[in-house]
Amino acid sequence: MSDALIVIGRDGVITRADDSDRNSVDHFRRAGRLLELSPSQYLVPGLIDTHIHAPQWPQMGTALDLPLEKWLFEYTFKLEARYSDAEFARRVYDDLVTTLLANGTTTGVYYGSIHLPATKILAQVCLDKGQRALIGRVAMDDPKQCPDNYRDGSAAIAIDETREFIRFVRSMRGNEVRLIEPVITPRFIPACTDELLRGLGKLTGETGCAVQTHCSESDWEHAYVLERMGKSDATAIRDFGLMNRRTVLAHGCHTTVSDRALIRNQGAAISHCPLSNALGSNAVLPVKSCLEEGVHVCLGTDIAGGLRASMFDAVAMAATVSKLLEDGVDATKAADSRGRAGSGISCVTAFYLATTAGGVALDLPIGLLKPGYRFDALLIDTAVPDTNLRLYDFDKSVDILQKIIWNTERQNIKKVWVNGRLVKG
Ligand SMILES: [Zn+2]
Repeated sequence: MSDALIVIGRDGVITRADDSDRNSVDHFRRAGRLLELSPSQYLVPGLIDTHIHAPQWPQMGTALDLPLEKWLFEYTFKLEARYSDAEFARRVYDDLVTTLLANGTTTGVYYGSIHLPATKILAQVCLDKGQRALIGRVAMDDPKQCPDNYRDGSAAIAIDETREFIRFVRSMRGNEVRLIEPVITPRFIPACTDELLRGLGKLTGETGCAVQTHCSESDWEHAYVLERMGKSDATAIRDFGLMNRRTVLAHGCHTTVSDRALIRNQGAAISHCPLSNALGSNAVLPVKSCLEEGVHVCLGTDIAGGLRASMFDAVAMAATVSKLLEDGVDATKAADSRGRAGSGISCVTAFYLATTAGGVALDLPIGLLKPGYRFDALLIDTAVPDTNLRLYDFDKSVDILQKIIWNTERQNIKKVWVNGRLVKG
């Protein structure tokens, strides 16, 4: 829309979004309640990052030359173990949430660590800073796949602490509108005993909580679950009672068509993390096929397995890797057998995954600037100093949209709102 008026209620819900009329504009201007965009400014929906490992923030950009299982043991678990220190957690989480809001992430779906106090701190930081967030206290108890210094003492402890975290978030003062929600979070099947997975499945049924876990991420993880469970990751997650309408399955690169039919039938979603997949998943999720199959797909950075914090980068990567999948990458192979025809998605589709589709995946009224939706939005300014985002007077609106999607950087994001509240700028 080129000349729109968006009206937001006190509860943060958009009540009107249509062509502006002079009477309404004058009314809001006189009341001092009108924000007018300059010709260089554009409003877009806030970005929804559906896969973030909050405690991994300090290792962004490191060690991704290692395969997943080595990366976990040699770097990640050692770092995550440090969150027994609440002060360390507060320092890191404060920086992380501030940074993500500055980059336009209005909703974050977070893994915390196994530490209940640190994960409560993450919830409080998101609430205080005004970021919409779904947060999970990570559960992982299998001595065969988790280090001694970073593992739940038993399945019962992990389940009890998950229950306590849910109670805490649901009764946080100031969280009456449920800006922050708890998520049941078994790290992934390899890290959890059957007893823990069953217990968390039961808790999911009792509490109606959203669930997040990893699913068929890499060759190693996919094969490990097949071997141990005698069935695919998606089927096992479903059978443990962990797949519901609000389950977010990270990656899914190695899911089969029948796995995805199961995911679709449950109304669950795959969080596509293209950069992380390219570096550590041995395959790229065929997003286009998933969408054609009717599966909910949303987008994630996978901090710190994905080593860029900006969802605009995740959008660019989603479009890029889909083209690589379509065309193939090995020029010694014949062109017609090099790739997977029809796999490419446009940058606009990728942007849809980061906004509207994120709202669908989480079953929340976010990701669109439309009446009835929450006002989670970014003000993009194309005329800030040092911008890489350049517009010309002959750009058509479709060109402008594409330029914004490919070239927005942190400095272009002048203001950020979540639930109607200004949280940046
Ligand atoms: Zn992950």
